[in-house]
Amino acid sequence: MTAWVPEDRAPREHEEHAVADRKGLLMIYTGDGKGKTTAALGLAFRALGRNYRVAVVQFIKGQWKTGEAAMAKTLADRMAFFIMGDGFTWDTKNYEQDVASARRAWAKCLDVLMDERYQVVIFDELNYVLKYNFLSVEEVLEGLKRKPPRTHVVITGRDAPQALIDAADLVTEMRQIKHPYQAGLKAQPGVDY
Ligand code: ATP
Ligand code: MG
Repeated sequence: MTAWVPEDRAPREHEEHAVADRKGLLMIYTGDGKGKTTAALGLAFRALGRNYRVAVVQFIKGQWKTGEAAMAKTLADRMAFFIMGDGFTWDTKNYEQDVASARRAWAKCLDVLMDERYQVVIFDELNYVLKYNFLSVEEVLEGLKRKPPRTHVVITGRDAPQALIDAADLVTEMRQIKHPYQAGLKAQPGVDY
């Protein structure tokens, strides 16, 4: 069996454009429908295919061993994957602890953002931390301003703050029309985690 090799069908002028004018974008996937993290990981897959290095920082509590984290391990030389959710309680009584966890996670984001080896960096569920005021949007915008000009940044999570939307180059809102949870189906491996 011969391996399937993708044919590059990009129009020529598109290719030249990509090389000459590459500008790092700030991209946001928000909204209440499923697909925000999936879209970010899809973009990572595409970037890896261009031999870019990708870094992912997840601001979530790691209840589940996810498929994406397992896959990233097999790509460790090209994809860095940091799960920073362990310290979060998401509990108003532990606000100080959650702020400290958010600061630690944001410090990791800044590390990978300033590291020019990564052409694509993904801050998964960062919006959530902003929503709960564990981190200020001003501080995040300040960090993003200092990023290397060609680095693409993807931020995911419901309820993206307006200031981040204003600063972004691309914002997509996932809108729920139907979700299997509504029919009582549980999260499934390979689809949800
Ligand atoms: P995914 O990781 O599947 O792309 P997401 O990043 O858009 O989802 P999150 O808000 O991060 O959505 O939710 C994480 C988990 O909740 C996933 O297991 C996802 O399938 C599930 N989920 C996402 N959207 C919904 C929804 N509208 N109703 C119920 N469950 C959802
Ligand atoms: Mg998500």
